[in-house]
Amino acid sequence: MYHDVLPDDRFDASGFPGPGAARYKLRVDEFERHLSAISPARAKAGVTVFDLRAGTSRSGLPVLLTFDDGGATAASQIVDRIERFGWRGHFFIPTNYLGKATFLDRAAIREIHRRGHVIGSHSASHPPRLSACTRARMLEEWRTSVAVLSDIVGERVRIASVPEGYYSPLVGETAAEAGMEALFTSEPTSRCRRDGGCLVLGRHAVQRGMSPAAVGALAAGRLLPALQQSLLWGVKEIGKQVGGEHYLKLRTLLLRRR
Ligand SMILES: [Zn+2]
Repeated sequence: MYHDVLPDDRFDASGFPGPGAARYKLRVDEFERHLSAISPARAKAGVTVFDLRAGTSRSGLPVLLTFDDGGATAASQIVDRIERFGWRGHFFIPTNYLGKATFLDRAAIREIHRRGHVIGSHSASHPPRLSACTRARMLEEWRTSVAVLSDIVGERVRIASVPEGYYSPLVGETAAEAGMEALFTSEPTSRCRRDGGCLVLGRHAVQRGMSPAAVGALAAGRLLPALQQSLLWGVKEIGKQVGGEHYLKLRTLLLRRR
């Protein structure tokens, strides 16, 4: 799970601003080192989530690249680079931000789709805690964004990712009700499951400063780095569930201090 990739350290120039979001943004040179490190998995490159669903992916553990938030650099920095390595990406767009200064516009999304990458929903408004929203609001978030994106790409959008990783069975159920066939969460696991008819897939979040070797190991399905990340995620998840709003405030405070 990647986010924005930027040519320099001005991380607020693409996607959501602030230090919390910036931790997930990479510079171009670092991103290229990651792509080189995962290139031994290239035999599996070009696979999309639809190959998984259709059971047509080649042998071994397929590796999927996803990009959240629809920052403007998806078009200018990411697509060319992953194509050079033979990959196709999954780009998840929060549609209320379409065309705003640091985000993709409709033409850019249409072009990314035309080049064979997969466009998905990342909700409409990117709520800080989707799992705490009402059922009606969840449905509204999925349906609005899917309608907008389907109109742009000229076919029905069928996949989504959960903003901020706030997944719950109801989040999955409402996504399925809105026609989603696959939903990406932020749970660091390579296991897939089904919730309400929707394929639910975990992801490994890539932060700036993660070594290319660790990223390569994850792509190769080696256990230890994946396990370490799962442990960290478990701690964070407990914080989210116990802390709720307090967790978000605490996180903001800690980031400011850092
Ligand atoms: Zn997001």
